[in-house]
Amino acid sequence: MSDQPKPKRKPGPATEVTHLGREPGRHLGAINTPVYRASTILFDSVAHYEASQRGESTSLVYGLRGLPTVTDLQAAVATLEGGYAALAVPSGLAATTLPLLALTSAGDHVLVTDSVYGPTRRFCDKQLSRFGVEVSYYDPLIGSGIAGAMRPNTRVVFLESPGSLSFEVQDVAAIAAVAHAHGALVLLDNTWATPLHFRAFDHGVDVAVHAGTKYLGGHSDLLIGLIVGSEATFPSLHRLWTDIGVAASSDDCFLALRGLRTLAVRLARHQASALRIAEWLRERQEVAEVVYPALPGARGHALWKRDFAGACGLFGVILRPAPKARVAAMLDGLRWFKLGVSWGGFESLILPINDAVRSVTRWSPEGPYLRLHVGLEDPDDLIDDLAGGFARLGA
Ligand SMILES: *Cc1c(COP(=O)(O)O)cnc(C)c1O
Repeated sequence: MSDQPKPKRKPGPATEVTHLGREPGRHLGAINTPVYRASTILFDSVAHYEASQRGESTSLVYGLRGLPTVTDLQAAVATLEGGYAALAVPSGLAATTLPLLALTSAGDHVLVTDSVYGPTRRFCDKQLSRFGVEVSYYDPLIGSGIAGAMRPNTRVVFLESPGSLSFEVQDVAAIAAVAHAHGALVLLDNTWATPLHFRAFDHGVDVAVHAGTKYLGGHSDLLIGLIVGSEATFPSLHRLWTDIGVAASSDDCFLALRGLRTLAVRLARHQASALRIAEWLRERQEVAEVVYPALPGARGHALWKRDFAGACGLFGVILRPAPKARVAAMLDGLRWFKLGVSWGGFESLILPINDAVRSVTRWSPEGPYLRLHVGLEDPDDLIDDLAGGFARLGA
């Protein structure tokens, strides 16, 4: 082996997702790490058991943490993101909220982007406040202006880019530089981009979180979250994860690992189809604006181009003013686009978005606002479906 020439290039993302997080030699040669179902783990002697109680044994102690299906997923995602280590939790929401609890204490202040995922906002407002942690919101487009919002006790700055529903692209590096200068940590909800299209730790992020429910799962049949920490933040994250007992199950991690294998090809197809449909939509007279940072000329495109390696299939469309009933007729008659929350699966979805909660910024499109998730169908069929929808809209 040693006289073989070393490969010259760093493996590309498609190669990484194919090979990371599995070691067939440890599992009878099975290509994918199998599902390990175990609670009790047996010790072969009293000495071994007592060593494990003293934290001196490296072997598995209990099924709540450390099962191979779980640790393989965690290792793969940590490597993809460029972080130190990762933790798997039972939902994306658990991934956004656990680090906020782990990294703050009573008397601390947290700054949260006004474009944050709604349930994360609710956790901040209803739960963090109960523990004496103060929360305030900032304009997602604030950039280095975040300096004006920092307080002496600001412990965490929470970002989500692009923002939920409204897709503002944040200047992550500029915000991170200011946060760090003030001694605060930077948390990023990186669900939209996935680690393949935005490597959070290359941009100054301290903790990146993902709803693996979306593209990592990819098939609308899995709920899972991933938390990736830096070397400095990981011990606190791991402590709370252990103390609360919120490890993801091996079954769910198996599905996430299986999804990971095709993530690169699926994302490429989601992006290509979404771009085609976004370009088609932009030319329609019924459309006022397409809100998709990957679309040249769209809001946030320059920053997206600077920082992201790609996009996904999720974006927004602002229609010209139209009666609510016509919009409902447009959506109700669609054949391929289905109505449903969440996204990232193989099927196309569409939703009317009637309101987005805001604290310090305004977000009020002039006309009806639709969120589209472009799935893996033939894009010509999706365009045909939307064209039929526009006919009903105008009828
Ligand atoms: C969906 C989503 C979550 C929550 O994920 P769940 O697995 O549904 O709990 C968190 N953040 C963002 C940006 C999301 O889109």
